[in-house]
Amino acid sequence: MLSSHRMSHVAYRIPHVSKACRIADAEAVLREEEAISPDELSAAQRRELLAKASNHTFQTEVNRMMKLIINSLYRNKEIFLRELISNASDALDKIRLMSLTDPGVLAASSELGIRIKADAARRLLSISDSGLGMTRHDLVNNLGTIANYPLERRARFDAGRSRSPRLLQSGGQEMNDMIGQFGVGFYSAFLVADKVTVVSKHNDDDQHVWESDASSFSVAPDPRGNTLARGTHITLHLKEEAADYLQPDTIRALVKKYSQFINFPIYLWAARTETVHEPVEDAAEEKPETKKTEKTVWDWELMNDNKPIWTRKPSAVADDEYVTFYKSLTKDTSPPLARAHFVAEGEVSFRALLFVPRVQPADSFNRYGTKTDHIKLFVRRVFITDEFNDLMPNYLAFIQGLVDSDDLPLNVSRETLQQHKLVKVIKKKLVRKALDMLKKIPDDEYEHFWKEYSTK
Ligand code: ADP
Ligand code: MG
Repeated sequence: MLSSHRMSHVAYRIPHVSKACRIADAEAVLREEEAISPDELSAAQRRELLAKASNHTFQTEVNRMMKLIINSLYRNKEIFLRELISNASDALDKIRLMSLTDPGVLAASSELGIRIKADAARRLLSISDSGLGMTRHDLVNNLGTIANYPLERRARFDAGRSRSPRLLQSGGQEMNDMIGQFGVGFYSAFLVADKVTVVSKHNDDDQHVWESDASSFSVAPDPRGNTLARGTHITLHLKEEAADYLQPDTIRALVKKYSQFINFPIYLWAARTETVHEPVEDAAEEKPETKKTEKTVWDWELMNDNKPIWTRKPSAVADDEYVTFYKSLTKDTSPPLARAHFVAEGEVSFRALLFVPRVQPADSFNRYGTKTDHIKLFVRRVFITDEFNDLMPNYLAFIQGLVDSDDLPLNVSRETLQQHKLVKVIKKKLVRKALDMLKKIPDDEYEHFWKEYSTK
């Protein structure tokens, strides 16, 4: 109900939607905005949309990809949010990159951010960004075929191999590899939604509406005109069983789990209760009395810390920042014995941040009794997994930290990633840096280190 177009529209133009838009009366917001929500068209607008829509079938490869996603990820539906946030972030990266050479591309809006809104009553979840946006042509091609995926982006890491869509027709393993290379992507939205609406405004085109129930899709000029300054507004019409994704706490937890280190602010349209002291109007009283009332305040709540510490220059990060980050990463209460923060370039480029815990992590052995490592894997700031377990040898499994690579795929299949030749290169460099880090533990601490780790 509060899912509103006007608010997101305003938000695109005003970077900090604080007091001006902090509307205490949720009902007023509702009345004012209901009619122009991008999640809803009036009957006349819907008729116009249908009249002007062109209908398309998905490319065969897309249909197969969707089936595969739904069959292989039905137990892990929550990754849809990571994928949509990752796309929003990519689109923001693109416009930001363009603006470096042509600041005019940000003329419609200079805000770069991601906004999430849940409308529990209508079971709608929207994710919007003020990124590059899509023209009509982009909507048809990017959200309808696989052939037009930006292959060059991935070509770097696996240059020798054909990524022809024909691969998809040749069966299971290739399909898995394919998904591995492309990430699960936009189509994972259908894990949780039975209908998806994409409204997009690109600088070079008028706003269009793309809509799909997973079996086919339509594209039409937006009958409401260009209501978005720039960017993409995706509305998921959630399946009944996916209603939990409308809960603010669920959304916050998923953003924290998968997307907290996205380089753009991610906001949630959220309510909080404020206690206000209102004067009681009573002429008979001399001194004004106040009564406490609870008010619901709706506002954009920032959910992530959008400048990951490891992307900063090591010389620009203070010791206590590393310690705080280490504690939040590991839940350890003492500071680490040593750390290493470095950027590797060459065959593969990645950033890494490694720590030696003062006390051996309690969960160094998994429930099968084998050692598990403590390296979180990120690809382009997107959290991929902390269960990859192939980035440190057993004897260094106690090392805590993370790796963020620009060259690896946003992979769903751990097996595919484990075989990836770049992973071996990363591991080799990590081991060298980890050993250097151990050598640098000061003498007085080394004894402690030795006691803690040698006998176990
Ligand atoms: P990938 O992100 O790996 O390219 P996806 O299936 O996630 O694959 O997305 C397909 C394409 O759709 C993207 O490459 C992009 O061109 C386009 N796209 C998806 N979401 C957005 C968005 N929010 N803004 C602009 N373009 C988008
Ligand atoms: Mg994607």
